Amino acid sequence: MTQKIRLISIAIALLSMVACTNTNSSSEKANEQETCCDKDGKKECNKGSKKDCDKEKACDSKKSCDKDSKKDCEKSCKKDSKKVSWSHQSGETGPENWAKLCDSFSDCAGKVQSPINIESGNATVTASLPALKFSYGTSKVNIVNNGHTVQFNIDNPNNNVMIGDKNYQLLQFHYHALSEHTINGKHFPLEVHFVHKHSDSDFAVIGVMFEEGKENALLKQYLKDFPKEKGTFGADKTFGLLKQLPENKSYYHYNGSLTTPPCSEVVNWYVLNHTLEASKEQLAAFSKILHNNYRPVMPLNGRKVEAYIQK
Ligand SMILES: [Zn+2]
Repeated sequence: MTQKIRLISIAIALLSMVACTNTNSSSEKANEQETCCDKDGKKECNKGSKKDCDKEKACDSKKSCDKDSKKDCEKSCKKDSKKVSWSHQSGETGPENWAKLCDSFSDCAGKVQSPINIESGNATVTASLPALKFSYGTSKVNIVNNGHTVQFNIDNPNNNVMIGDKNYQLLQFHYHALSEHTINGKHFPLEVHFVHKHSDSDFAVIGVMFEEGKENALLKQYLKDFPKEKGTFGADKTFGLLKQLPENKSYYHYNGSLTTPPCSEVVNWYVLNHTLEASKEQLAAFSKILHNNYRPVMPLNGRKVEAYIQK
């Protein structure tokens, strides 16, 4: 009888060893650093507790560091955010999923996002809003197609706009087709964004719509050189920046965000209500390069849109 019990105990011990080995090999496939074993039906890790094991797993996920261990993963995710691929086309990496692609993209699901639809009838004309005081000069051309837009990088730090008592330095301008903002529900064929920075948490972006009309001088000069795919075009020529804006600088203003990941909610938006022109052919050729790179409009969530009228 005693020997029988001993034999059964040995058999149980052998069986549990087999179970352990099996679990080990399958979990190693999933995560080489993790050596886990089923004990009494519960998963345990050799390296620390179960909790640590879960954390490691969450951090290893390439697409997102979501769920419980958000804070612990923030560092690794931030590091990787530049490698996270996103797109303007609806789908797994599209605008509806940007916030899930990486922790540092979480603002994309925020409450003060851009672009928006501007209802001109609902915009409050505010007498106290400041005029946009441009001190733009010239800049050498450095045109980049970064896979999401065509961007003109500004190499001269002396291009600024004064808004109230704050100075914002022009960093770059880039294009979206169709327009990102809509006015009274209507898209324009093209929108340019002049991106200015006051501090890391204070940007001013000036948006200007294009309408079909006369040939645009800047596009005439450079459209043929725009990189069709990711790439850079540099030239030694300089061009006047102020000519790239309409004469009348009346604007709609609201607080919002960058319209691409990480969608940081740090932008004072100034959407001019006077437009620029480009020819039908120019708009068609440029749109082909930009591949519908516009984010759908986001909810206002109670934000006010104000209007400044330049007389
Ligand atoms: Zn933009």
